[in-house]
Amino acid sequence: MHELSVTQSVVDAIVERMGDAEVAAVCLEIGKLSGVVPDSVRFCFEVVCAGTTLEGARLDILEPGGQARCRDCDGEFALPDLIPLCPCGSANVEITAGRQLRIRSVEVA
Ligand SMILES: [Zn+2]
Repeated sequence: MHELSVTQSVVDAIVERMGDAEVAAVCLEIGKLSGVVPDSVRFCFEVVCAGTTLEGARLDILEPGGQARCRDCDGEFALPDLIPLCPCGSANVEITAGRQLRIRSVEVA
């Protein structure tokens, strides 16, 4: 399961950086185009955090939508899925947002 390893590495990174501090809340940004399912991360989070300094921590997930820029018409548009197609008909687009998976903040107890 993809989300399990993703969640594991996020939790590992937090544990590594926060040391012995008890973590009360974690806020993640999971872009809509990241391919990661927030509900699965929520489920895995609890499992992965058990027995660590993150046990019982609250998990907030933000889901920024996809955004792309067209290299042909220079327009920017919202991208609801991973099919990069500009309203002008060009597929020569660059995805500028929505693929990120990152820790936005960590709250220490
Ligand atoms: Zn275009």
